[in-house]
Amino acid sequence: MRSLSRSVSPTSVDELARLFGTARAEGWKVSFRGAGRSYGDASLNTGQLSVDGRAMRRILSFDAVRGVLEAEGGVSIADVWRHTLPQGWWPAVVPGTMFPTMGGCVGMNIHGKNCFKVGPFGDHVLELDLLTASGERKTLSREREPELFRAVITGLGLLGAVTRVKLQLKHVESGRMRVWPLVTGTLGEMFDVFEQRMPHADYAVGWVDCFAQGAAFGRGLVHVARHLKASEDPDARRTLAVAEQELPGDIMGLPKSLLWAFMKPFTNDLGVRLVNQAKYALPEPVDEDGSYRQTHAGFAFLLDYVPDWRLAYGDQGFIQVQLFAPDAHAREVFAEALRLCQRRRVVSYLAVFKRHRPDDYLLSHGLDGWSLALDFKVPRDAQRLWDTAADLTRLVRDAGGTFYPAKDQVVDAGSFARVFGDRLKSFREIKRQLDPDGLFANDQARRLGIV
Ligand SMILES: Cc1cc2nc3c(=O)[nH]c(=O)nc-3n(C[C@H](O)[C@H](O)[C@H](O)COP(=O)(O)OP(=O)(O)OC[C@H]3O[C@@H](n4cnc5c(N)ncnc54)[C@H](O)[C@@H]3O)c2cc1C
Repeated sequence: MRSLSRSVSPTSVDELARLFGTARAEGWKVSFRGAGRSYGDASLNTGQLSVDGRAMRRILSFDAVRGVLEAEGGVSIADVWRHTLPQGWWPAVVPGTMFPTMGGCVGMNIHGKNCFKVGPFGDHVLELDLLTASGERKTLSREREPELFRAVITGLGLLGAVTRVKLQLKHVESGRMRVWPLVTGTLGEMFDVFEQRMPHADYAVGWVDCFAQGAAFGRGLVHVARHLKASEDPDARRTLAVAEQELPGDIMGLPKSLLWAFMKPFTNDLGVRLVNQAKYALPEPVDEDGSYRQTHAGFAFLLDYVPDWRLAYGDQGFIQVQLFAPDAHAREVFAEALRLCQRRRVVSYLAVFKRHRPDDYLLSHGLDGWSLALDFKVPRDAQRLWDTAADLTRLVRDAGGTFYPAKDQVVDAGSFARVFGDRLKSFREIKRQLDPDGLFANDQARRLGIV
């Protein structure tokens, strides 16, 4: 999505507080932007003021004994692991890319491939600082103003600026994990494999071939991973070094920077069918026990292997629709979604499957259920896609599912209000008290009817 706004990059909390005063006096609405890695309009503020948080990017402290890190809001996930991994600590929750900032991870309450086990990002935030519209600095935690703490996490930047985060990291003994690739012949089998493997896994993620039909409908691949103990990895200390984690500069002889151009001829129905067939049918090289070893960064940040990968989708770009469905209905909802897309001939080129668990953050997408994230290339006759996306929204809403703003640019205000109900009312009430003039807003919040 494209939008024009005035951008400012304050370097201190004092400067940011002064900026809020100026914006109010000038009648500007203020939004926050981390690394801009949300898929839709979450960090856009058309014609208004956008605060780029990345100039406030200092790691403030790190306790390598307890694995507790304090960082400013603009510090990225990459900054964190590069600072802490050599001493055996990895962020407990990371998204599929290493660029998001602490502020963005809190604002959306991101989840990882281990959500079923460790919950979302917020569960590992010990404390955070919020700069409110009035310029007041509040320190929040599960003990200090817990209600506001749970609203700021998932708060979409609408309650103030997150200027400091204190994070509990996860102790790791090796820089590598053991990964099992498991072929699943149908969608149902993918659910079954997850259920069998999750009790013994640290991470689990599925890929679904959305073109497959008939007996192969919903076929895919599951990757299950487990952290290695030092005793299981003779090179454990060496692999914790940052240099061992960095993604390779080229892949099969091609410089990384050109990979998106190599992918471009395949981003059409025929190309994706071919790639999917190869992905499904060609076995990954594994050891005797059917697994291989992979670095944390290699496993977690797959898409970062291809810089500017989104350019492969062409001029019109792409959108993502992540369907969240409760456990009781997820099998039917995802099957119906895939059938609907095939009928409309609007088929997702990349589909990622995960298990989630419920949490108590106010506008949380978390639920006792599953998600299927569908990437769609925007075709020239885009109306077909928008109509299909609207039907997918209804499908999720009517099945008792949830919406995730980090991946959304299609949900309508009515559906959002129906899903979030009283929680949305409570959020608005907190916002009314903390930001009575409605200083903080963004395009997404306006579209979803939150502000
Ligand atoms: C390739 C790729 C893979 C991804 N994989 C996953 C995944 O596996 N799981 C997942 O959950 N997400 C995933 N995401 C989405 C991404 O993690 C989230 O959108 C995240 O919020 C982006 O952080 P950001 O710093 O870029 O924030 P932005 O996108 O810039 O902003 C996100 C929100 O945070 C608010 N915000 C930003 N900074 C502050 C601040 N300092 N104070 C208050 N509010 C602030 C903004 O107002 C906005 O509402 C993925 C994205 C990409 C591109």
